[in-house]
Amino acid sequence: MFLVPLFFPMDAVRLDQRFDTWYIIGMYMHATISTREELEHHLVLTEDESRWFEANGDTLPLLISTYYLSLMNPGDPDDPIRRQVVPSIREMDRIGLEQMDPLAEISHSVLPRLIHRYRNRVAFLVTDRCATYCRHCFRRRFTATECSHVSESELDAVAAYVHDHAEVREMLLTGGDPLTLSDERLMQVITAIRNARPDLVLRLCSRMPATFPQRITDDLIARLKPHTCSALYLMTQFNHPREITRQSVQAVARFIDAGIPVMNQTVLLRGVNDDASVLEHLMNLLVANRVKPYYLFQGDLVSGTAHLRVPLEKGLELESVLRSRLSGLAMPQYAIDLPEGGGKVPLGRSYLEGKDESGTWMFRTVSGEPRNYSDPD
Ligand SMILES: *Cc1c(COP(=O)(O)O)cnc(C)c1O
Ligand code: SF4
Repeated sequence: MFLVPLFFPMDAVRLDQRFDTWYIIGMYMHATISTREELEHHLVLTEDESRWFEANGDTLPLLISTYYLSLMNPGDPDDPIRRQVVPSIREMDRIGLEQMDPLAEISHSVLPRLIHRYRNRVAFLVTDRCATYCRHCFRRRFTATECSHVSESELDAVAAYVHDHAEVREMLLTGGDPLTLSDERLMQVITAIRNARPDLVLRLCSRMPATFPQRITDDLIARLKPHTCSALYLMTQFNHPREITRQSVQAVARFIDAGIPVMNQTVLLRGVNDDASVLEHLMNLLVANRVKPYYLFQGDLVSGTAHLRVPLEKGLELESVLRSRLSGLAMPQYAIDLPEGGGKVPLGRSYLEGKDESGTWMFRTVSGEPRNYSDPD
């Protein structure tokens, strides 16, 4: 008789920590899996995957939407979708220069949830929750910790900060995934920021179009639309062509049709997309669906992600192959976010070889042929 009331509140608390309260019952409850038992209904764990559950470490928890699970081939232990979301014991490895916070976001935080790393733009961590946790998450020092979503007083402080700092031109609404907030709370955040700074360019950074496209409802879009009078962008993270489905395409189309341009940031991942043809196909699919490939990120030196990182040399090789195959529109900027808070810098082979004695610039074409260029006298 006492078991029911004892279990009920515990379960409610656990779910409450997953997402913003408003959504728990309506949307996510039956649409995500978070336990070994649930996962084993879908696939047979490999030894490395199984050992993660036995180790019971304090790394990023398991959470996968059933939609994203459905993109997997459950019979393939090396499936590119699976590698992104099913944990492995290799996350417990601690290697070389890896850190929990390689981008030094904590020391660049001007408020508890506000990172001011670049003079003209800030990143606002509105929640620590996502609909699906990526095993390569670079912000795992924060993601799925107990930070939950932004409080009203924290929001007021962030709004006051951007009001007082006119040099800030853009704000990234990120986390975690801001779309785990209820529509109400998300609108509260956007309205407070827009009231403080009507001119601020906002970037809504969400992986939900790829991992939980059901979240992109007509209602959400109708509420965002009035906020497009100053630029509002959606930044997505599609990492593999198989993530481009009827549902995900429809989700991004809703944003674009409402006047919200969509840009994509791909993370270069070992065994997922470290292949020129896979990346070429992904970028072409994105462009065909009106999504601009923005960045291709070299993996950050985040603890527990070594098995998912691609050697830089291989990344450079992929970049040059892509350069020869993709249009300018389809080509993302390959970039690295340098350790110790060094910031983002572009990566790629240089086509400019230098200057000769007479002051003539020497180039290599994409196919490797020499060409010269001279400045005006
Ligand atoms: C990546 C990032 C930005 C945005 O950089 P862009 O190169 O403009 O996309 C802003 N703030 C922080 C902390 C970042 O990590
Ligand atoms: S969606 Fe972003 S914040 Fe969330 S787990 Fe993936 S990489 Fe991390």
